[in-house]
Amino acid sequence: MSLLSKFEPLRAAHSRLTKRGHDPFSVVFEEMVSSTEGIMQGRRTVLLGTNNYLGLTFDEACIEQSVEATRRHGTGTTGSRVANGSYDGHKRLEADLAAFYGRKHAMVFSTGYQANLGMLSTLVGKNDHLIIDADSHASIYDGSRLGHAPVVRFHHNDPEDLAKRLRRIEKESGDKLVVVEGIYSMLGDSAPLKEIAAVKREYGAYLIVDEAHSMGVLGERGRGLAEAAGVEADVDFIIGTFSKSLGSVGGFCVSDMEGFEILRLACRPYMFTASLPPAVIASTRQALATLQGESGLRAQLRSNADQLYSGLARLGFKLGPEASPIVSVILSDADKAVAFWNGLLERGLYLNLALPPATPNSSAFLRSSVSARHTPEQIDFAVRLMGELGRQLGLLEAMPTEVGF
Ligand code: PMP
Repeated sequence: MSLLSKFEPLRAAHSRLTKRGHDPFSVVFEEMVSSTEGIMQGRRTVLLGTNNYLGLTFDEACIEQSVEATRRHGTGTTGSRVANGSYDGHKRLEADLAAFYGRKHAMVFSTGYQANLGMLSTLVGKNDHLIIDADSHASIYDGSRLGHAPVVRFHHNDPEDLAKRLRRIEKESGDKLVVVEGIYSMLGDSAPLKEIAAVKREYGAYLIVDEAHSMGVLGERGRGLAEAAGVEADVDFIIGTFSKSLGSVGGFCVSDMEGFEILRLACRPYMFTASLPPAVIASTRQALATLQGESGLRAQLRSNADQLYSGLARLGFKLGPEASPIVSVILSDADKAVAFWNGLLERGLYLNLALPPATPNSSAFLRSSVSARHTPEQIDFAVRLMGELGRQLGLLEAMPTEVGF
C-alpha cells in the first residue's frame, strides 16, 4: 500500500486502454506543420481535435508580434500583477477586450480555467447561491468547489428546470448567480440563452456566460452566443479563453458592473499566480484584431463545420444535436470507439476520444473540432476515412446509397 494505491482502479483502466493501441491521453506530436497538420510517429496527421477554430496559431502577424514582444520585454513576467506590477501589454489587452465586447471592465487571467475558478469562487459567498448547468466544464465545477456558495445544478439546457431551482431558493437571502456556456465543449450544442436570460430576469439572478468555444465563432462580430442570441444586455459577466479561437493561452472576464476593479484584490486565482508573458499578450492582441478584421474566417469556419456535420450525418453516424465547429460522433460501444479512434490515428487523422465515466449514459464520443483553416479536401478526407473505418468496425449499418461528396 502506498499513497498512490487509491489510483489502482484508474491505473488498471488506463492500462486496459493502452493495451489496445495508442494512449489517447498522451499523444505526442514531433512537429506541428501548420494549424491543421502535425507529424506523429513520422506520419503527417490531419489535426481535427485542437479547438484551433480560426487557425491563428501559425498566423504570420501573430508570430511576428510575439517574437518582437519577447525581444523587447523578455520571456516572462516572473510573478503576479499584484506583486510584480502589470506590463503595458496587459493593460492594452484588457482595453482591447473591453472595447471588443463594448463593456467597461476587463480582467485577464493566466488561463480560462483560472478565469472560471476566480470568478465563480469570488463573486458569490456562503450566503449566496451558485446555479450551474449540469453539463458544465470541469473549470466551472472546480470554481464552484473553491468558493463557499451552495451549488445547485439544473438539467442541461433546460430553462424550465432552471426556473424551478430558482423558485425553490427565491425566498432565501443572498445573490443568485447562474452559469452557462455558449457552446458546450463535448457535443457542440448551444445554451438556449434567450430563454435562460428571461428566467434570470424573472428571478433577479445574475448571469455568467462562458464563451470559451463560441468567441470568434458565433455572432455577427464574433463576440459569441450572447451576441448571436441578442441578449448581451442580460449577461452580467462574459468569461472566455485565449486558448481556442485566439490561438494562445490565457483567460478573461468582461463586465459593466460597477465596482468590478476591486476583484483584482479579492480573486485569488488572479492574485496568486504569474501573469501572462509578453509573447502571449502580444499574439493574443494581434489575434483579437484579426478576429475582428476578418469576418471571412468565421464564414469559412461555419462552412467547414457544415461540411463535416452533414458529411458524417449522411453516412449515418449519430451526432450532437446541431452543426457547430464541435462535431461529436456518439457511439454506444466504448470498445469500438477505442478501436475507431486508434484506426483513424493510424491512418493520419487525429481527433479526441471521450470515454465513460466522463460521458453520459456510458456512451463514448469521438469529438472533432473544425478550423477555418481546414481545406475542404482535409474535411473530405476525414469524412471518407470515418465512413470507411466506421463500416469496417460495424459502426454503420450499410453502405448509404448516396455519399454525396
Ligand atoms: N471553459 C470551457 C467551456 C472550456 O471548454 C475550457 C477548456 N477546454 C475552459 C473553460 C478552460 O480554458 P483554458 O484552456 O484557457 O484553461
